[in-house]
Amino acid sequence: MSERTADVKRVGVIGAGTMGAGIAMSCIASGLDVTLVDSQTAALDRGLRRIRDALDASVHKGRITAEASAAAQARVALASDIAALATADVVIEAVFENLQLKQAVFRELDAKCRADTLLATNTSTLDVAAIASATARPQDVVGMHFFSPANIMRLVEIVRAPKSSPVSVARALALTQRIGKIGVVVGNGFGFVGNRMLYAYGRENQLMLLEGVAAARIDAVLEDFGMAMGPNAVGDLAGLDVGYRVRRERKDLPDDPRYFRVADLLVESGRLGQKSGRGMYRYEAGSRVRHTDPEVDVLIRAEAQRLNIAPREVSAAQIIERCIYALINEGAAILTDGIADSPLDIDVIWCNGYGFPRARGGPMAYADAIGLGVVHEGIRRLAVEHGARYWSAAPLIAELAAQKSTFAAWHAARAGHSAR
Ligand code: NAD
Repeated sequence: MSERTADVKRVGVIGAGTMGAGIAMSCIASGLDVTLVDSQTAALDRGLRRIRDALDASVHKGRITAEASAAAQARVALASDIAALATADVVIEAVFENLQLKQAVFRELDAKCRADTLLATNTSTLDVAAIASATARPQDVVGMHFFSPANIMRLVEIVRAPKSSPVSVARALALTQRIGKIGVVVGNGFGFVGNRMLYAYGRENQLMLLEGVAAARIDAVLEDFGMAMGPNAVGDLAGLDVGYRVRRERKDLPDDPRYFRVADLLVESGRLGQKSGRGMYRYEAGSRVRHTDPEVDVLIRAEAQRLNIAPREVSAAQIIERCIYALINEGAAILTDGIADSPLDIDVIWCNGYGFPRARGGPMAYADAIGLGVVHEGIRRLAVEHGARYWSAAPLIAELAAQKSTFAAWHAARAGHSAR
């Protein structure tokens, strides 16, 4: 690892919004200096206020002293021009999710930053290689995909684009550790690891809603299984409009009128989640307590009728199978595609970024524990009931089930070391 890794002192963060302010908070709390850049003065003011409020809250709760809070605040400098990042060791970009905008930002970073500055993007859906291509130093560009709220969530997916150098990946990992977070290196494919799997899991949740299963029941069953929050509660927390916008941009969605139809309908009727007081659930002002909303049931029932989807009985075991087998199947495809290096990496991502129960080890360890033969058989049964469109077992599952093997043993054999 390069000496520069140990020497990170000043981090530049571009974009003082939800993510940028959270990333800045994590860095100053770990003793790093931060230059926070935003083109909008109002955004800089808001970002700084959020940082101060979070530090004040920590003092109030007795987590840090007033002196430590003052010292952390003194480590933030604000700027409206990227030129202020000329002395940064690392820059993390968190501007709006728009490729042309990010490319323009990286072009300017390339022109204004030192030759040895690590350049990272916090994009959640864009191609890191396309962002890196705006610079003459793609080897120094990686993704650092933080999770919201970035000052609290510990996971960071470190995205290795085809031209990212091993030193750049190592520097990003070291910085992640330095700010007390867990970095997992992933490949550069849509959704990386976590969000790609989330699409498969969310798809089953959405289909069950159209089949007449109540959102609160799905959430309760998955929370009993151990998920920190059910998928419908998570959607409301994150904001249903976020995924809506991503789906509008994607060109590779399945040609299926049911696909995320309920989420789309909710957004189109102004129900964005907690931020608008109404999403899949209803919320009282200033409260995060979910209340079932009969209006949503009416909306879903009408849509199911329009799409000719008959209500069906779905047991708790079936809810778990549909959501968790979908996760496992996508995870297996991700391993084959080389987007994750190991089943353990997938498990670390799901336990630390998505609330998968640690006691079950993560989706891939859970699959090994119940047996890949059981998972394979379950997927075959789901294919009979629901069709092969979404239920075709990943070849790796079929292969390992036939050998009565596990993901862990498969990885150990490839890595040349013993199974975990
Ligand atoms: P946001 O809208 O809250 O903030 C974006 C900020 O970027 C704004 O303050 C805006 O003024 C600023 N900005 C825009 N153009 C700029 C420019 N040219 N120079 C400097 N500043 C500029 O957005 P966000 O939710 O913080 O998302 C930022 C990035 O993080 C996106 O790429 C998003 O996909 C990603 N991300 C978001 C989440 C999430 O849950 N919100 C999670 C992971 C990753």
